[in-house]
Amino acid sequence: MHLGGHVSIAGSFDKCIDRIAEIGGNCLMTFASSPRSLQFKNIDPKLIQKYLDKKDESGIGPHFFHGVYLVNLASKSKSYLKASINSLIFYQQLAGEINAVGTIFHIGSHMGEGLEKTIDQVVAAINFTLDSSPKGVRLILENAAGQGGAIGEKFEDLAQIISRVGDKSKIGVCLDTQHCFAAGYTLDTVLEKFDRIIGLKRLSVIHLNDSKTEFGSKIDRHENIGLGKIGEVSLAKFASDARLKTIPFILEVPGDGNGPRKQDIDTLKSMLS
Ligand SMILES: [Zn+2]
Repeated sequence: MHLGGHVSIAGSFDKCIDRIAEIGGNCLMTFASSPRSLQFKNIDPKLIQKYLDKKDESGIGPHFFHGVYLVNLASKSKSYLKASINSLIFYQQLAGEINAVGTIFHIGSHMGEGLEKTIDQVVAAINFTLDSSPKGVRLILENAAGQGGAIGEKFEDLAQIISRVGDKSKIGVCLDTQHCFAAGYTLDTVLEKFDRIIGLKRLSVIHLNDSKTEFGSKIDRHENIGLGKIGEVSLAKFASDARLKTIPFILEVPGDGNGPRKQDIDTLKSMLS
């Protein structure tokens, strides 16, 4: 199976491969720019080559990008929307260069106005981004916990957006277990619901996280596996589902404050064995 985590590219892009190898993962997720800004810088081609060599040598992959959390395709500001789209396009083009699966991202927030008011803009922004995405690179919509009007809390919302995407071959969905739990989906039945409403064929990746917050809280706070409100039993049952056999699992857990550690990947491995 493909089990990995969110690791840093700090210092030098190629280091993400060392970092995931160090904690015992065989697939990874990273940002491609500073997560604190919608701005981005091209990565030195020499570092990209170094990364590709390390990746080849280690056999690690697939690699997913995570779009910066500031992206908001429902923003009312034209310049902010443009910056969000440009950031996503940068990620998608880099994903093409390094043979990554694509970019997982949070669609944004309708700020309490409801999806109906912003869906036209959201769909247009996704279609524009896809037109500038290399062939075979996916834009991956992540389900949301529902905090602050976050779009994608309900599977129906994601399905509605996907139904209006032009090139559906370039669209995927990321299912985050903490966001499911916070949005009020029990893990026991979530895959049936996902399949009925969105379709399991669209599922590209799982973010496997425990939850610091209660069921239905709508609050997006991840906890280390087994230490949160979902608990190891429920997460293990979910992660062992035969329908997820070919789907990569990415941990986005806090660890000691710096993200997933070796012991977190080990917990996941032991849960699955
Ligand atoms: Zn996530």
